[in-house]
Amino acid sequence: MEMELNAGQRELQAEVRAFVDEHVAPFADEFDRKERLPEELVRELGARGYLGGIVPEAYGGRGMDALSWGLLCEQIGRGSASLLSILTVHSMVVQALVKWGGEAQRSRWLPRLATGETLGAFALTEPEVGSDAGSSQTAARAEDGEYVLDGEKRWISCGQIAGLFLVFAKVDGQSAAFLVERDTPGFSTVPMGGLLGFRAAMLAELHMAGCRVPEENLVGRAGFGFSHVGGAALDQGRYCVGWGSLGMMQGCVDACLEYAGHRKQFGTFIKGHQLVQEMVADMIVQTKAARLMCHHAASLKERGEPSLILETSIAKYFTSRATVKAALDAVQIHGANGCREGYPVARYLRDAKILEIIEGSNQMQQIIIAKYGYQEHILAKRKARTDRTT
Ligand SMILES: Cc1cc2nc3c(=O)[nH]c(=O)nc-3n(C[C@H](O)[C@H](O)[C@H](O)COP(=O)(O)OP(=O)(O)OC[C@H]3O[C@@H](n4cnc5c(N)ncnc54)[C@H](O)[C@@H]3O)c2cc1C
Repeated sequence: MEMELNAGQRELQAEVRAFVDEHVAPFADEFDRKERLPEELVRELGARGYLGGIVPEAYGGRGMDALSWGLLCEQIGRGSASLLSILTVHSMVVQALVKWGGEAQRSRWLPRLATGETLGAFALTEPEVGSDAGSSQTAARAEDGEYVLDGEKRWISCGQIAGLFLVFAKVDGQSAAFLVERDTPGFSTVPMGGLLGFRAAMLAELHMAGCRVPEENLVGRAGFGFSHVGGAALDQGRYCVGWGSLGMMQGCVDACLEYAGHRKQFGTFIKGHQLVQEMVADMIVQTKAARLMCHHAASLKERGEPSLILETSIAKYFTSRATVKAALDAVQIHGANGCREGYPVARYLRDAKILEIIEGSNQMQQIIIAKYGYQEHILAKRKARTDRTT
């Protein structure tokens, strides 16, 4: 069921919508062309408290509830997927620290992450390690009260401008997560350009050669890296991506309703052609279904229900797939005009494809969802047997 918004949530939604309409959406194609987000826009995200959205108030953040955070991601996703990705990876670092960071790490970093004084990036993927993320080749060894990191990360969103990286590495064969500051000796970044979508997300490769971090930069403990710290961050990432995709789908619907009501062919507005209506109707239905799933995930997150992890996977999987279809149809409805800048739909299409790959590809989500389905099936059979015998 769709959750009812309270006054604060309605106010936030209106505020972010106005911000996106004025400062983000009209410039999103330009950001993509330049493969860069303006510094002042990212600073503004911090000033408005959006970067600190999920940082607890005790550490200077806004401590938003789950639905408010989702509504924020939805609006930002509608405006620019690249901006959404900055918000997403930043919040993944925040979430990892909130859940697994020690008090010293929290009190040192969360206030800076809350204001955007420091931007966070999430560094898991490597040239040879993608979906099989637990098998990181980046190595860390303990030496004189420090960890020495060697290895390479690739496809790191926000990597060009982040100040703090959550880097996953193997210590004695165990996965571990480390906080690495940009100016650490032995650490360097190389910008990555020429992307299909998320063009302004300022991706980078990270190179670590004898990169020394103090031992207190280990988050959680060795063995907890990918499974616990990474798990908490990726759940958060999928939640943002699910809601952000919903924003893009709504953007497709809005663009198509507007366009089809103005464009005339065969003497009538194309909104009157039934084959166009079919595409618009499907888009509206899928957007409604995606919204329900995102709201469901929000209500579970609010209540701290364990099923949140699965339901967030389902929402991310459904919404990202539906966004690709919505964006394809949105380009179709715009005809040639949909194939270039000037309308948002070409960008939505490029960005939508990325949604199916990041935060665990959709095949990884399918594996998780199917496994869960089998488990539920077995439990239901067991329960039925017990009910029969009692
Ligand atoms: C724009 C963008 C931003 C990104 N940002 C970040 C970031 O900030 N931080 C970060 O760490 N990473 C980031 N990534 C990397 C992203 O997380 C990976 O691309 C993703 O995990 C998939 O890994 P891969 O690309 O190596 O594909 P691979 O793992 O090589 O997979 C290739 C294909 O095989 C499929 N496949 C693999 N294994 C299986 C299996 N067991 N069963 C069925 N199918 C399988 C996959 O689903 C995929 O379709 C980003 C990527 C992009 C494109």
